[in-house]
Amino acid sequence: MKAVVKTKKGKGNIEVQDVPEPEVGFDEVKIEVKAAGICGTDIHIYYDEYMNNPPVILGHEFCGVVKEVGKNVTEFKIGDKVTSETSAKVCGKCRFCITGNYNLCSGRLAVGSGVNGAFTKYCVVRKQIVHPLPDNVDFVSGALCEPLSCVVHGVSELTGIQAGDVVVVIGPGPIGLLASQLSKVEGGYVIVMGLSVDEEKLILAKKLGADLTLNIEKENPEKIIKNLTKGYGADVVLECSGVSAGAKLGLKLTRKKGKFTQMGLFGKPIEIDFEQIAYKELKVTGFFSQKWTSWERG
Ligand SMILES: [Zn+2]
Ligand SMILES: [Zn+2]
Repeated sequence: MKAVVKTKKGKGNIEVQDVPEPEVGFDEVKIEVKAAGICGTDIHIYYDEYMNNPPVILGHEFCGVVKEVGKNVTEFKIGDKVTSETSAKVCGKCRFCITGNYNLCSGRLAVGSGVNGAFTKYCVVRKQIVHPLPDNVDFVSGALCEPLSCVVHGVSELTGIQAGDVVVVIGPGPIGLLASQLSKVEGGYVIVMGLSVDEEKLILAKKLGADLTLNIEKENPEKIIKNLTKGYGADVVLECSGVSAGAKLGLKLTRKKGKFTQMGLFGKPIEIDFEQIAYKELKVTGFFSQKWTSWERG
């Protein structure tokens, strides 16, 4: 079968190759890939800025149908429409694994970087990370389950939004757009912020239910948020841009005792006015990947 393979370490080194079809182990499911998304992580792997284990087939946001199941698999049958988590291998013994937080296991190897992924015809994963897809979810939408689960983990499981919260989403990329929709579902009043280059994405954010969108190159975000919140600031800021200017703005916009969640990755250390966290008694959090509960909820 054809596959997109990171062949060796270093910048680039990605090729389409002919690879053998994978065998299915006793506790594994072979999925025929029907749709797969390209993630920012794939770009980082291209530049060798994210852990990868070459030679490895890329692709970790995907869905498809079950082609074959291992001897011990009774949960799925051939033809089932499914998607898969990314935690392909975990140790199963550390405190994170035991408490269901295996996304943080130091032995974790991910689909599409640590082990073979989905930019190919068949992908084999352990049965524990396979989730059935409802019939009304098409394949392209199904491939979005992975980024959605990340957002469920970051927003619903770790940040927590209460009905009526003013939620600022900085950065209208895929994660920002999903975070905006989820914040609406959780009952927030959602303001999505971006730059002039993001105009189209801001229009999409509005279509997808954001209450307000702002081009911060044309409008003053601090003034607008102050006006909306009687001068207090946003209850929740979800920083999805992964650039330091976004994080700086986010800290400014968060009200005292508010919540700031770093959703985007900077890829390098940044300079920031960290003591704002003390002065404003902020609750600051981040998140990494997702776990079983994030998928079930998503
Ligand atoms: Zn991803
Ligand atoms: Zn572990």
